[in-house]
Amino acid sequence: MEVFNEIEPLKAFLKDKRTTCSIGLVPTMGALHAGHSSLIQFSKQENQLTVTSIFVNPVQFNNPKDLEKYPRMLEHDINMLCKAGCDVLFVPDTQEMYKQPSTIQFDFGHLDKILEGKFRPGHFSGVAIIVSKFFHIVQPNIAYFGQKDFQQFKVIEKLVNELQFDLLLRPVPIFREADGLAMSSRNLRLNETERKKAIVFYESLLFAKQMLLQGKMISQVKELVKQKCELVEGVRLEYFEMVSSENLLAQDIVTEKSILLIAGFVGEVRLIDNLMMTP
Ligand code: AMP
Repeated sequence: MEVFNEIEPLKAFLKDKRTTCSIGLVPTMGALHAGHSSLIQFSKQENQLTVTSIFVNPVQFNNPKDLEKYPRMLEHDINMLCKAGCDVLFVPDTQEMYKQPSTIQFDFGHLDKILEGKFRPGHFSGVAIIVSKFFHIVQPNIAYFGQKDFQQFKVIEKLVNELQFDLLLRPVPIFREADGLAMSSRNLRLNETERKKAIVFYESLLFAKQMLLQGKMISQVKELVKQKCELVEGVRLEYFEMVSSENLLAQDIVTEKSILLIAGFVGEVRLIDNLMMTP
């Protein structure tokens, strides 16, 4: 695997490769797990060259403690990437990605004001800035993003469409632990007890889906999910919503586009998850 810390040598390397290879890009913040590996596998199936980036982007963190505590483990990540068969790792430092402090801000309309956007102001603007930079640098044919961050995928879709980036976006299904917990780098911050409690969010999604399919009203289901989370000490629900997967607008009635999204804290660790209403 080729490793680059700087933009220019990476661009020069990719310029040559581009003539014969299609390039897949997998942007990550490191502390890699099997969910990330699955993105790489999708890329390897469709491209001759897979580039993974590892960069903990300060601009997308609205909580300084979350940024400080974000797990960093480059040696482990390099091992994982080699095993996954990744061809190129781009791992720049903050100075390389932000030669000057970023002053621009993206506004995605309602898309970045609801759900995650409501609780993490500025987050999606920060994501859009760094993802745009990676798109410009790598110029991938296809970029891979996990459906675990469903709202992020919708924001990036809008970014690509409106700014006419010449690439395809591929959503990749959520990769889960054996008990159903969505894999996340932040899971590493959970202690043993918190790890057991963290399953409450996925269980709430499954329970809510069942209730809704049985005809319960969304308002009742929201209340039941709230109660279910409140029963677990140290768990704090931030939101549970049913929205359309097309435009993220709240829904009262289940349709084939409905998706359930949940977010909350287990101790100090913030987790998100989601579930489509139709398989
Ligand atoms: P992150 O390193 O958390 O920023 O994630 C990098 C990419 O991996 C994003 O596109 C995420 O949506 C995706 N990802 C993270 N966790 C999972 C998972 N459990 N299953 C599928 N994709 C994931």
